[in-house]
Amino acid sequence: MKLHIEQLAGKAQKRTLVKTESDGCFIHMDGRHLFNLSSNNYLGLANDERLIHASIEATRTYGVGATASRLVVGNHPLYEQAEEALIRWKGCEAALIINSGYTANVGILSALAGRDTLIFSDKWNHASIVDGALLSRAEVKRYRHADMDHLEMLLKKAERHKQKIIVTDTIFSMDGDVAPLRDLVMLKETYGAMLIVDEAHASGVYGENGEGMAHELQLAQHIDVHMGTCSKALGAYGAYVAGKRVVIDYFINTMRPFIFTTALPPSVLGTICTAIEIVQQERSLRHHLHALSDYFRTHLQHAGFDIGESTTHIVPIIVGDNERALAFSAQLRERGIAAVAIRPPTVPEGTARLRFSLMATMTKEQLDWAIAEITAVGKEMGLIV
Ligand code: PMP
Repeated sequence: MKLHIEQLAGKAQKRTLVKTESDGCFIHMDGRHLFNLSSNNYLGLANDERLIHASIEATRTYGVGATASRLVVGNHPLYEQAEEALIRWKGCEAALIINSGYTANVGILSALAGRDTLIFSDKWNHASIVDGALLSRAEVKRYRHADMDHLEMLLKKAERHKQKIIVTDTIFSMDGDVAPLRDLVMLKETYGAMLIVDEAHASGVYGENGEGMAHELQLAQHIDVHMGTCSKALGAYGAYVAGKRVVIDYFINTMRPFIFTTALPPSVLGTICTAIEIVQQERSLRHHLHALSDYFRTHLQHAGFDIGESTTHIVPIIVGDNERALAFSAQLRERGIAAVAIRPPTVPEGTARLRFSLMATMTKEQLDWAIAEITAVGKEMGLIV
């Protein structure tokens, strides 16, 4: 049947692009200057002078574009520098930079899994994991969010299945809760599965040196594939995969989103190298972010908001109804705060919310003001009393 352009109209109107320009903890959006409670720039590094300098220097030295894929002639020297920095940081045998977190997850799963594999995936895992699993053609079992009894039941049923992969976000991006990593390690060992973790929201934020949640919980050695992004707390762009040498060599040879794409520009690699150094050295950034997050969550909870199971710097206020979430976001914009409404299908039906995320460069005074505004709107809207 022929696809007509007019048929696309129904799905072409719901979301539109808004011009944004971020400036530290503030953002220019829709002609307004707003306090930015929607950014993934958790440590404020995206605007850090040292990263800006590294990016300019890398461009001056190696040019603007990488000109080809890494396996052809795009493997400029900053790749080796960045991957060696990653190996030291993550304490693993080998590491590989991938062009984005999205393509990393798509690539990891489609390279490791095939028709004979069973993938066990948390229901709230990021869309890139869902897409990677689909592309792999493996059979996918989605277990109820963080429900280890459900996962174990599914694993038991699959005992005779040869290849099993468990995959999870370590911090869930829309809820700010943490995966039960200790139990996942126990289950993966009991049932002979491989365990892949996505540290997108934990890299730079958790772990003594910002290595991620697996390190924070001292479980890093038990995890087969560590994936994380350089686009959030690291303030740059791109992603990494870390693990055993054989795993990384396998990816170099089989991961299609690694093989068939132009390498990242030198400027991005220069920025990643510098960001990895900074996150290890500047523990105070992390500590301040955690203190602010505890403060923010505690006050919202005391005010009566439903913040779900968040224990991190990502804090939802779950509203339920889509229109109410949009109205809440619009009211906050009027008061000078950017907090995006997240609706299904990004989150389960009936759990529309505002997703707040904090930055280490914010002050307690700024948060006091934001909490007061959020509470005032919550009362006006009848979300709290
Ligand atoms: N994994 C998770 C858990 C994410 O939240 C995201 C992006 N928000 C990604 C992967 C994709 O990362 P990137 O934006 O670098 O493509």
